[in-house]
Amino acid sequence: MVQQQVEAEKKTDQTLVEVKGLKVHFPIKGGLLGRTVANVKSVDGVDLFVRRGETLGLVGESGCGKTTTGRAILQLIKPTAGSVKLNGVELTTLPSNEIRKRRAEMQMVFQDPFGSLDPRYTVGQIVAEPLENFQRGTPKQIREEVAHLLEVVGINPYYVNRFAHEFSGGQRQRIGIARALALHPSFIVADEPVSALDVSIQAQVLNLLQDLQGQFGLTYLFVAHNLSVVKHISERVAVMYLGRVVELAQSASLYETPLHPYTQALLSAVPVPDPDIEARRKRIILEGDVPSPVNPPSGCNFHPRCWKAQAICREVIPPLEEKQSNHYAACHFPG
Ligand code: SF4
Repeated sequence: MVQQQVEAEKKTDQTLVEVKGLKVHFPIKGGLLGRTVANVKSVDGVDLFVRRGETLGLVGESGCGKTTTGRAILQLIKPTAGSVKLNGVELTTLPSNEIRKRRAEMQMVFQDPFGSLDPRYTVGQIVAEPLENFQRGTPKQIREEVAHLLEVVGINPYYVNRFAHEFSGGQRQRIGIARALALHPSFIVADEPVSALDVSIQAQVLNLLQDLQGQFGLTYLFVAHNLSVVKHISERVAVMYLGRVVELAQSASLYETPLHPYTQALLSAVPVPDPDIEARRKRIILEGDVPSPVNPPSGCNFHPRCWKAQAICREVIPPLEEKQSNHYAACHFPG
């Protein structure tokens, strides 16, 4: 019993971010009075945790709620329900001025390196902005810190007075990363940070993110729809389907022995470089479309497309449970 308590305490100590029952519902207004007639259940009961210093990949198809989950964890979107703890502190009940102070600990790298940098400001002003807002030093110290941050992400500080549109997509993403690092956060949500970049540049930015993780002691939630990218960078991977996490495991375990039918279908679609294996491989073709998040199916929301579905799947929501050591799945018939 004592040993169990010690293990539980160790686990808590390792956890930087803990999310339980997170929901984000967007109201649809209708009628003359503009009343709420329905809700888009974009995130509908997400459970996950991120350990200190790790990268947790969050994958799923477009519209599954992964970006909204990342934004709701950072409190950029107000959650409808659920709990989000950063370093043991509950964020969902904090007043906005307290959330603002916590912004220094948690930052976001955005998907679109073209839209996320203000075209009216120079690169130096963009990276300096969070330092000035949080009064992190004199103007001279801030100038020196900006030069250091640009150097760290591979941008020559000589270009500090240039505007964002004068840089390539990869360089802009590096500038966005420098801005996210300015306040030395412990947690970064990277929202599809390479999906808008040329393939030749993607690996460079991924390697940069990995180098910075060691250098700055960062913890990442890495949001992506590309399973190959997530495998490259993540220690663990969480798979989302229609607003819920359906599987969460160490990368190796998830890619080698996926337990949830949806993960099995996703992985069966990833091409294998060996032509012999590729020719013999069996693909799982899912029938039907992803249901609408306005009116998701009852019970397990994957049941209309699942070849293993039974009566219980239509009635009871399967909880995300540890089915094997450190391998969680939300399925009544995993494996
Ligand atoms: Fe399929 Fe049932 Fe598992 Fe859902 S709970 S994934 S319907 S087997």
